[in-house]
Order: sequence, then C-alpha cells, then structure tokens
Amino acid sequence: MAKPRVVVVGAGFGGFSCLRGLERKLPPGAAELVLVNPSDYHLYTPLLPQVAAGVVNPADAAVPLRGLRRTRLKPGEAIGVDLDARTVTVRDRDGNVSGIGWDRLVLAPGSVTRTFDIPGLKEHAHGFKTIVEAVYLRERVLAQLELADGLRDGAERAAYTTFVVVGAGLAGTEYVAQMRMFVRSALAAYPRLRAEHIRWIIVDPGHRILSHLDPRLSERALAILRSRDVEVRLGAVVDRLTADTVHLSDGTTVACRLLVWTAGVAAGPLVGELGLPMEKGRLVVGADLAVPGRPDVVALGDAAAVPDLTRPGSVCPQTAQHAMRQGHAAARNVAAGLGHGRARPYRHRDLGAVADLGGGQAVAAPFNLRVTGRAASAITGAYHLFALPAAGNRLRVAADWALAGLLSRQTVSLGLVPDAAAELSRAEQLSIRPPAERKPAG
Ligand SMILES: Cc1cc2nc3c(=O)[nH]c(=O)nc-3n(C[C@H](O)[C@H](O)[C@H](O)COP(=O)(O)OP(=O)(O)OC[C@H]3O[C@@H](n4cnc5c(N)ncnc54)[C@H](O)[C@@H]3O)c2cc1C
Repeated sequence: MAKPRVVVVGAGFGGFSCLRGLERKLPPGAAELVLVNPSDYHLYTPLLPQVAAGVVNPADAAVPLRGLRRTRLKPGEAIGVDLDARTVTVRDRDGNVSGIGWDRLVLAPGSVTRTFDIPGLKEHAHGFKTIVEAVYLRERVLAQLELADGLRDGAERAAYTTFVVVGAGLAGTEYVAQMRMFVRSALAAYPRLRAEHIRWIIVDPGHRILSHLDPRLSERALAILRSRDVEVRLGAVVDRLTADTVHLSDGTTVACRLLVWTAGVAAGPLVGELGLPMEKGRLVVGADLAVPGRPDVVALGDAAAVPDLTRPGSVCPQTAQHAMRQGHAAARNVAAGLGHGRARPYRHRDLGAVADLGGGQAVAAPFNLRVTGRAASAITGAYHLFALPAAGNRLRVAADWALAGLLSRQTVSLGLVPDAAAELSRAEQLSIRPPAERKPAG
C-alpha cells in the first residue's frame, strides 16, 4: 500500500515546527513528508530589525531547511489547492507549474504586509517582512546618507535624512530603535552630516506603542525612543504619500524619501482563494486546527483564525510564539489522524513578549513579569538563542552580537537589492498569480 503523503505549505514558524514534530512523531516509513516553500530556509523574523541595522548577518537569521532530514522540499509557491482532487498546484521560480497530491494538507503560508487604499502607498512605501526588504532598507538608508552628505541645500538634505516608519508594533518599533542607533554610529563616515540632521519619525493610529505589552512596558519603550530623539506620532495615520512627501492625518506634511510600512499583516493570498470560511481575512479552523468538515486539511499560524481557548471567544494573536506551538499541535494531530498518538485541541497561554531596542535596552514580559534595561536585553538575547531552531544559527548569531560589541558597524552598501525587487508587491508576493492571471477586484 502507498504511504500517505503529508504536504506542508510554508516553512515559517508554523510549517517548520510542524515538520520537525512530524519527523519525531511518525515512525520512519509511516508517511511521505513534502514541504512546499519558495526559499530553502526558514526565516527567523524577530532578528530582522538587527539584520537591517547590520548587527546580524542576513544569512544567520535564515535556518537551512535541509536540517529537516526526512522531508522532501518542493521549491516554489503553492498557487492553488483543489480540495476535491486533493492536489496542490506549485509554481517554481522559473515559472514551471506542477501538481502534487496529498492525503493530509497543512497550510502555513503566513501573512503578507497589509496595505490600504492610501494614495501612493503601494508605489512608494516599503514593507519589512523579508530578508530582501531588511537588506534593502539598510542599503537604502546608507545610500540616502551618502547623497545627503553631498547636498548643500538644507531642505533637500532634510528629505534624504528623514525616515518615517508607520506602525508601532514589534516590527516598526524595533526597526526604528535599532536603525536610529545604526545611523548614529554610521555618521562618522559622512563628514558633513551631523546628528541633528537625522530625523526618525514613527506613526501609529493607536494611543501607545507596542500595544500588545503591559502599558507600563509600552511607556518605558516610548521613553527610550524619545530619549533617542525619535519623534513618536500617536493617533495619526498616513493620508497620502508621494516619492518625497508624506501627508499625515494630524495635518502635518513631512518631506522624506523613505517610508517603511509595518502597519499590520493580512493572511497569505493562497488561503483566501480556497472558497472556505474566513474570519477577519484568516482561514477558519477549529481548536484541533482542522478546517471544519475537512479533517484532512489543517491550517495554522498567521494565516489561520485559531480559537484561543485561554481567552474564550477570541482568536490567537499573529505571533511567532503561537505559530511555532501551533506547529507542534498540528504535528501531533496529523500524526494521530494517521494512527500514531492522540489528537488534542490547541491551547497555549502566552509566555510573554520581548522587544529589543538595541544599545543594551529592551522591554520584556516573561511569565507576566515586567523587566526593562540590561536585564531585559539579556532575557531577549537568551530567548532568541533558545528559539532559533538550529545550533549553527545560534552560534553565528551569538558571534554577530559579540562582533557588534567590539567593532564599529559596516557602512558599505553593496547594492545587492535593486529598487524594483524591494517594491511591496515584488518583495512579498502580495498576489500568488502573475498580473495577467489576476481576477479584477470587486
Ligand atoms: C520584522 C518582524 C519582526 C517580528 N518579530 C516578532 C517577535 O519578536 N515575536 C513574535 O512573536 N513575532 C514576531 N513577528 C511576527 C512573526 O514573524 C509571525 O507571527 C510568524 O512568522 C508567523 O508564522 P507563520 O508560520 O504563520 O508564517 P511565516 O513565518 O511568515 O512563514 C510563512 C512561510 O510560508 C511561505 N509561503 C507564503 N506563501 C506561500 C505559498 N503560496 N506557497 C508556499 N510557501 C508560501 C513563506 O515564504 C514563509 O516561508 C515579527 C514579524 C516581523 C515581520
């Protein structure tokens, strides 16, 4: 009899931990494991702000998928799922399209940057979710400093040395905190630029930064940003933007040539095309992570609305911590469906979040405690080393941190990512179909 095939879509926190769990739980030969993912690595996103700031080498935040010894990688993007025929359609990087059958399907395609109908946003904003975007944003900032250094006109120079970040969640807050430190240390390389020429502005419609944390930790993080001269504009949104101007809802206009958009995420486009029930843009699943009425299809992570049994009536937040643990739960339940072990509903009480603000400053809430300063920074570092799922990456990241403490940051810009590759739609594959095949909106 043919072995059952489990196909996992996405090698993020959810998909990667699910496959690690399946490799442990299923006896050798019990099932064929296949992973569909566009890259050959799992990206440890919490380190992206440090990648952008030149603390962590980009490759060190990328965990090689070849560590999954019993899983076959099918490189490419899943562009469609036929639930009746039980097949996934995959397009590889050369555009070749092929199908693969499954007995169990695990959907973990994560999320993409959520954009809104703000004039100029898609054309001029940059997202911050991928390695390509992190490397681009670092090089773009350096390129702007280089240009600004040669400008005599004060207004023109100000546009190149003003950086706007939208969204004061983890990604936006850590990015602005780390980059502000990076640029300050890089200034020595630009003889005509001074610290007072540089402006960092973070904009958020809410009334506090890092709103998922205890309000006192948010306050502390806000005080740290303000002590570093970061302008924090709360209760404001972007009304429109052009290549060199941002118009905010508080009536102000900012001349700037780089806007980083981190204001929320939407489930990867694949799940929206399945014709299955959705909740707030995420695929509806039960507490067992299966799609209702389809025990052969499981979804998890940012793409799925997983009921939070610790807070009845709500769904789990879109965090790495939940995605990783849902991966373990999905592995247990899929293995149980194949006759190995027992299924259980997903239940996880948040262990608390951490935010690294660079320069030995952090805020952390382990097990509902409130920790700030160097102690929080140490907890944050230890947490990342523990959570990185490969020993090689742990060692390299620890070495990166040690070097960053000893040496000044690299300020060369290698021009690795062309502007076009970092456009929001290109960098994050906001659509799973090439433009010609896309259905018209509405
Ligand atoms: C800059 C940044 C910092 C963050 N910091 C933190 C933090 O400190 N703590 C925290 O808890 N969370 C953090 N997050 C959020 C966290 O990254 C997400 O909640 C988590 O990655 C979700 O895991 P996932 O498995 O659902 O998706 P992802 O980790 O996003 O993985 C999805 C995978 O699926 C692949 N994929 C997508 N579409 C397809 C397709 N059609 N076919 C095949 N493969 C596909 C992608 O390439 C990717 O490999 C951060 C996010 C960002 C962007």
